[in-house]
Amino acid sequence: MTLDELIKRIADVETKAATLIASAESASALEAARTSLVGRKSGELTALIKELPTLAPEERRDAGAAVNRAKTSIESALDARSSEISSHDTSVTTADLTMPARRIWKGGKHPVTLVIEEIEDIFRELGFTVALGPEAETEWYNFGALNFPPDHPAMDMHDTLYIDDDLLLRTHTSPVQIRTLQNYKPPIRILAPGNAYRRDFFDASHAPVFMQIEGLSVDEGVSFVDLKATLTNFANRFFGKTKTRFRPSFFPFTEPSAEMDLECRLCKGAGCSACKGSGWTEILGSGMVHPAVLDASGVDSERYTGWAFGMGPARIAMQRYGIPDIRLLYDSDMRFLEQLAG
Ligand SMILES: [Zn+2]
Repeated sequence: MTLDELIKRIADVETKAATLIASAESASALEAARTSLVGRKSGELTALIKELPTLAPEERRDAGAAVNRAKTSIESALDARSSEISSHDTSVTTADLTMPARRIWKGGKHPVTLVIEEIEDIFRELGFTVALGPEAETEWYNFGALNFPPDHPAMDMHDTLYIDDDLLLRTHTSPVQIRTLQNYKPPIRILAPGNAYRRDFFDASHAPVFMQIEGLSVDEGVSFVDLKATLTNFANRFFGKTKTRFRPSFFPFTEPSAEMDLECRLCKGAGCSACKGSGWTEILGSGMVHPAVLDASGVDSERYTGWAFGMGPARIAMQRYGIPDIRLLYDSDMRFLEQLAG
């Protein structure tokens, strides 16, 4: 092969390379072009480089320079086209697809919410409906209608947060009883869960804002037997077969009144700091609805009787899960809540 022939063949390969590279639409097509042009074994330009030794020695320098120039220009064209293709090709990504995914965090229900829902489920089967009422109440709904006489000592038990002279944050969910009795005719069976507020110190067993769940049953011929049977049934359903006791108590809105105690599940009745050494934990207050409450709500107390109860689901959650300090329920500490979340 003469020098002129070689120079012409190099020019031909360069022309062919320009077309081939420009028409390559994928990384694999471009790789095929690279192999056919400058591949180590079968590249067309590589084949021409092998012709160099056949030239006269004085011609080899010019021929070598021409081949090298062609090789450099073809390779830079290949590289340029390669980066064009990878910027368009969505199947090529720089993300590390082998990286483990983040765990999906679904959230969970607070233990007090779980307890309320479970209590609601049990009472729903007994024919109770959930009723709600406002958290800011008038003095009449919170005290007056519930048979608290003005300046009665019982009002001292409720260290109340007043908004103004007549408006306060309800100290119990009992105003919902009045609102229900005013608006619906017996038979009535309601469950009223919600927040209540008192000026309590935040200690191991008290919180200034707490959930309460209240129950009310009013109909003709309702007696203390219904109260005791229903609440005992509830305790056995909720806590499993367990010891309970009723103690005489006093509330202005019920007569007679009784506290229901449950054997302390932390110490099994032996006495511990959570049950103040008694072996029993009070879980709810209850009683027969005072006739004055029925009358205040416009219900005929000669015809109808009823019973009611109120309990603190936070304390019940403490019993259920063996939590020694009520403040743990309000700390929002994930390490604690995660163990109980439903
Ligand atoms: Zn105990």
